[in-house]
Amino acid sequence: MRDLQQVLNEIAAEAAGDEDRGVVAQYIPELAKVDAKQFGIAVTLPDGTVLSAGDSATGFSIQSVSKVFTLALALGKLGDSVWSRVGREPSGNPFNSIVQLEQEKGRPRNPFINAGAIAVVDLIMAGHQPKEAIGEIIQFFRHLADDDSILIDEHVARSETAHGDRNASLAHFMRSFGNIHHPVDHVLGVYFHQCALVMNCRQLSRAGLFLASQGRDPVTGAQVVSEQRARRINAIMLTCGHYDGSGEFAFRVGLPGKSGVGGGILAIAPGKASIAVWSPGLDRVGNSKLGTAALEQLARRMDWTVFGA
Ligand code: GLU
Repeated sequence: MRDLQQVLNEIAAEAAGDEDRGVVAQYIPELAKVDAKQFGIAVTLPDGTVLSAGDSATGFSIQSVSKVFTLALALGKLGDSVWSRVGREPSGNPFNSIVQLEQEKGRPRNPFINAGAIAVVDLIMAGHQPKEAIGEIIQFFRHLADDDSILIDEHVARSETAHGDRNASLAHFMRSFGNIHHPVDHVLGVYFHQCALVMNCRQLSRAGLFLASQGRDPVTGAQVVSEQRARRINAIMLTCGHYDGSGEFAFRVGLPGKSGVGGGILAIAPGKASIAVWSPGLDRVGNSKLGTAALEQLARRMDWTVFGA
């Protein structure tokens, strides 16, 4: 097998020389001003060792990558009752589409499209004020990353609120079908804060380690979710983790992954590694262009796949 650090160095060097970097997300000013030239990658191994290259210590807005963790949090708190409120089928539609919601009576296709993630937040909020739910989510990330310095960017959260009409529409629409129980502005407040979490690749890969290790954090010994739930979260990442480009990501990379419009991707090589990559330029469907290319190369060079022997 190739030396992992050497492979990461090669991939970061190749990314630095790539001119075709995609377009940085434009829907809020805070994301539109991020420098597209940045690229970071980090891999956390089952013993907790973190290897990295490029801008792996630079924080970025994790955006929809957070949806993997809030799903894990909701499953841990509420068990399989989560699935009465949200499905687990790829949507084949853009992440913020409202069309399917009407046809399917307010039950979102999966927890990784915006409507699904908003329904998951509503579940996490049971018995909590919005501030408490935000606190619980941050604590969960800090615990998983073993790093108390993780914070939310309040500017990003406020800007999401100011430009949040589409998400508000999704939430109101679901509420009209009884699939949102809390006031819409409370639920969206929590959702926008979760999207505005700032992490670097090293922290994010560490936080995802339980998904590569049968639901257990092998360093602390904490069972975050059951082994079966970890497998199922990986299954949903593989089928639904990349918006309307999920099939293409599975084809090219062959690992479960979840992307966000901040340009981050968390990918899982079960039993082998948790990987975080970040480059802010996005492709046509909103996935990090260089991040996807880097994961394709990493999986190939390390022979990491969920489809092998
Ligand atoms: N905060 C973004 C939204 O809700 C998240 C988008 C994403 O990363 O997919 O629209």
